[in-house]
Amino acid sequence: MSSILNAPYFHDEAAAYEYVEAHLWPNGPVCPHCGNCDSVRIGRLTGKSTRIGLRKCYDCRKPFTVKVGTIFEDSHAPMRYWLQAIYLMCSSKKGVSTRQLQRTLGVGLKTAWFMGHRIRHAMV
Ligand SMILES: [Zn+2]
Repeated sequence: MSSILNAPYFHDEAAAYEYVEAHLWPNGPVCPHCGNCDSVRIGRLTGKSTRIGLRKCYDCRKPFTVKVGTIFEDSHAPMRYWLQAIYLMCSSKKGVSTRQLQRTLGVGLKTAWFMGHRIRHAMV
């Protein structure tokens, strides 16, 4: 038996993106700018300095990731920390405070507050 906390998406950034993409894009990537969901018309950008999960829509020519239009948008925190925070908050009966998120994830207070706020908002 293996602990849920050993799941790769809690530790590996690429696996974290794959996990979120599989849930938000069950039928393949969808362009948040123009709604294009033709997999042939969406490419994966794979330069050395390219951010993980970056795609490009060949219809509207705009780049995007799975974070656009979600609670993860405009966050610089790694996706794996987001998944850890969501797991903590969903598995805790009494909720998780900003301070506790900060201590457990080892992120800054501002980041912890931002994540907690967004996740609570998403759970409403
Ligand atoms: Zn597009």
